[in-house]
Amino acid sequence: MPEMPEVQAHCERMTVALAGATLSKFQLINFAGLKTFDPPADAAVGARIVAVERHGKYLMLRFDNDVTHVIHLMQGGRIRPDPKQSKKPRNGITRWIFDDAPDGGAEAWLLTEAGTERKAGVWAVRGEPREQDPLLGLGPDPTTLDLDAFAAAIGAHSRRLHGVLRTQGIVSGLGRMLANEILFEAGLSPFANASKIDADEMARLHASTQRVVEAATEHERTLDDIGKSVDRPSKVHNRAGEPCLGRADAGPCGDTIHTVEYRKYTVYYCPTEQTGGRVLADNTTSKFLK
Ligand SMILES: [Zn+2]
Repeated sequence: MPEMPEVQAHCERMTVALAGATLSKFQLINFAGLKTFDPPADAAVGARIVAVERHGKYLMLRFDNDVTHVIHLMQGGRIRPDPKQSKKPRNGITRWIFDDAPDGGAEAWLLTEAGTERKAGVWAVRGEPREQDPLLGLGPDPTTLDLDAFAAAIGAHSRRLHGVLRTQGIVSGLGRMLANEILFEAGLSPFANASKIDADEMARLHASTQRVVEAATEHERTLDDIGKSVDRPSKVHNRAGEPCLGRADAGPCGDTIHTVEYRKYTVYYCPTEQTGGRVLADNTTSKFLK
């Protein structure tokens, strides 16, 4: 699943390509791709794009008539220029056709979703999109929070840090990879209780969140299209058994990257720098998981 860096960089590309363009047609190619019926998605036809924005992992096409198309890519969704405009595009969900796109901007954009889940889609909303479904209930973007606000959001939960960071209702936009990388750079155990870390640890977590997200976003800005988080450089994510590269402010620590496997994801960590040298058992009820 794309995380906020991929979506943010794509949002910036789409802004360059679409700001000021007028929507001339909205095509629903796969019925399941439109998640709302009122207002109709067509309510944006004839309106101009004022901005393409992001909240969490959602994109927003904001039109100048108070209508917004909120887009979620889920696991395999992509939104790209669609010069062919074929009648039955492979994996096609929805298509937007614009007049007067800026120079070099594409006149048609296609939302596709690989796989069979059909969870990616579009919500048409009127008014402030952040105050209604599907954005209502999402936590703030963690990179917009100062230390006090960040500590209040994270420290309110008596749960493991790795899970708290990924809970979209607490802070939005972080996925498995960013959670692994942020906790590594902060030198914190993924299994530490979020409500029990001290002020110094919280400050490190806050700083590493800003740094890791910014570095990841900078990387995504060098690409032409939305990337996959697995293609991003990492220190621990997907590096099981490899030598630890060390934190940004240090060199290799001599340890190797360890994992704790779950059914749907894997937690990656460096024992030396994150768990006081302890290797955590895979059994998630282990008393060592602290
Ligand atoms: Zn290390």
